[in-house]
Amino acid sequence: MTTTIHHTLKTIFGFHAFRHPQQEVIERVVAGEDVFLVMPTGGGKSLCYQIPALHRDGIAVVVSPLIALMKDQVDALLANGVAAACFNSSLSPEEARRVSRQMDSGELDLLYVAPERLLQPEFLERLATLKLALFAIDEAHCISQWGHDFRPEYTQLGRLRTLFPAVPMVAMTATADPETRKDIIRQLGIEQARIYVAGFDRPNITYTVMPKHKPLAQLGAFLNGRRDEAGIVYALSRKRVEQVAERLRAAGFSAAAYHAGLSDEERRRVQDAFRRDDLRIVVATVAFGMGIDKPNVRFVVHYDMPKSVESYYQETGRAGRDGLPSEALMLFGLGDVMTARSLIENSDNAERVRIELQKLNAMVAYAEALTCRRRALLAYFGDQRELDCDNCDICNDPPQRFDASELARKALSCVYRVGERFGARHVIDVLRGAKGQRILELRHNELSTYGIGADLSSVEWDNIFRQLIHLGYLVQDFSRFGALGLSPAARPVLKGETQVTLGLPRDVAKVEEKTRRRSGAGEGAHRALFEVLRNVRKQIADAASVPPFVVFSDATLVEMAKSKPRDARELLSITGVGEHKLAKYGAQFLAAIDEYRRTAEEMQPQLNTNDLHLALSDTQRDTYRLYQEGISLDEIAARRGLKDVTIVSHLEELLASGLDIDLRRFVDKDKIPLIEERLEKLGAVNLTALKEGLPDSISYSDVRLVRGAWGRERQS
Ligand code: ADP
Ligand code: ZN
Repeated sequence: MTTTIHHTLKTIFGFHAFRHPQQEVIERVVAGEDVFLVMPTGGGKSLCYQIPALHRDGIAVVVSPLIALMKDQVDALLANGVAAACFNSSLSPEEARRVSRQMDSGELDLLYVAPERLLQPEFLERLATLKLALFAIDEAHCISQWGHDFRPEYTQLGRLRTLFPAVPMVAMTATADPETRKDIIRQLGIEQARIYVAGFDRPNITYTVMPKHKPLAQLGAFLNGRRDEAGIVYALSRKRVEQVAERLRAAGFSAAAYHAGLSDEERRRVQDAFRRDDLRIVVATVAFGMGIDKPNVRFVVHYDMPKSVESYYQETGRAGRDGLPSEALMLFGLGDVMTARSLIENSDNAERVRIELQKLNAMVAYAEALTCRRRALLAYFGDQRELDCDNCDICNDPPQRFDASELARKALSCVYRVGERFGARHVIDVLRGAKGQRILELRHNELSTYGIGADLSSVEWDNIFRQLIHLGYLVQDFSRFGALGLSPAARPVLKGETQVTLGLPRDVAKVEEKTRRRSGAGEGAHRALFEVLRNVRKQIADAASVPPFVVFSDATLVEMAKSKPRDARELLSITGVGEHKLAKYGAQFLAAIDEYRRTAEEMQPQLNTNDLHLALSDTQRDTYRLYQEGISLDEIAARRGLKDVTIVSHLEELLASGLDIDLRRFVDKDKIPLIEERLEKLGAVNLTALKEGLPDSISYSDVRLVRGAWGRERQS
């Protein structure tokens, strides 16, 4: 081979560098070795067989479980100018004949097949007559009963090794579980395969868990800030799915329901619309999953708690495959835990119940954790992290801790007084002195603990009970509808011998605000051009009947919007633009960027200030508000309790983010021409150089403000 794998990466796929461990995997497969690759969703598994397919003689046979996924992969390869096809039951007789001819003539580099098709005797005989580059087994965990998505048709794949001992095999999965991994390797007969495990971290996903109080309102608030973005909302039951989808539609969102109770046709319709960016939100049960390789899913919301950390990781992992910032939000309520438990305990397989309860407990512990979510999540998969992530709700807004000994004592003694026979709801009612029928009937209004907790809201008490359960002071008996009982650890607390430290309930509004602000593709000033490019992409995609991401990913469009390439060479330097796509789509995108640049000045005032606001930090926003009041720099600084220079840098940032900020407003009229004269002579050099030779009455801030305004006007 004369071209290097780096060259292929750049010219065909338009990427500049390999991600870990792509290069090593590719080198080994090119050399004819077997590889077992464990890599999270979005990590970049496809390249690990696609590049070897181009660097080895013959056809690469790719086994993939879902027809829809195959088609997308093939479309994406064709868009890059790679000869690929799929062979499955969805082809018409003519199409099948065409693919057949392509196989025989040796013009195909990659062939995607479903396992049941591959293993048909006539197909295997055909393969035996062809030169094969490699076998790639995608979603390899489907072979194992240990895995979460066992598919019987995968079990026969072990025969490939016996039938084609000389053809290298690369098996890929995102499954974390070591048992499943061993089983896959054994069943495929690739015991000598080199194993690569990429970390499980998905750094671009922000994890947030919010206590569930008014779920529909919470969901609405979350979605409001991201109307143009695509996402999935998972709920546990079909009924809930229908209901949430209906409410979202009524609130004007583009949303549809997806669950196993719908007709095949309806489900296909929803999936297609979602893939084509015609539908923004899918509200779904877990039935909506494997078929989703849409890279620009910007958020995954768990309206109900998932039943295990594995499912949670898997489901949240569908967000942000393109590497852009994405959100995973879970609403977590004690009621969900109860429902999940009773469902599990309904089974009469004791071993199964035990395992599932364990998994559920781990999920609850995650949701209740007051430590960095990412650390907790990765720790669950045995991936220890040294540092907090700075990109989860806990890191962004660490809970304050307080001495809750007194409150804990009240809570525990109330549990004791009601006879350890009631759930948290009732105990809280007693603590708060509620006057419900049931309380009066039970004469719980006569208990010494009745009303001693009236100063806290039931939401606050809820939080305290949750933590007491989590920390092991209280135990919940799920065979008795979640009745609370005291654990041995409760005794010293009741006696006042130990202190209890709890996390202060976090300000939900604040968490919501922070969650709302970040948004994937929409970064301030570039948002408008991004939207333009997105429309161009949509038109091209619709005309070619492919999903938009086959044309270019969101990540590629964001990069284009930021760097605004002027010609083919500059466009080619953007990640995701290979030579084939350049030739095919380059002109259209360059024209759109050019047009945008020319009208940019007129467009400035039309920029949606709401979008801009989203990109601002709290402190920038506060400065902006005062700026709008028209007061002086000193006054803004005084009102904010910050230094002048800090305010000046905020103003510069606000200007850079696309807001219409008049920096000269803060400088004396007669000073401006003097400073501008220096700028004309020296350019926008450093402040010291500019200030030199100017009268002392002109301050650094003056120079900086004028330089900022001057520089901005000279940018294109
Ligand atoms: P997986 O199959 O592991 O879920 P994919 O192979 O679909 O992941 O890749 C996920 C995304 O990352 C795709 O949009 C792909 O184009 C992109 N990608 C993969 N490798 C690279 C790379 N080396 N540089 C830039 N982007 C990459
Ligand atoms: Zn964190």
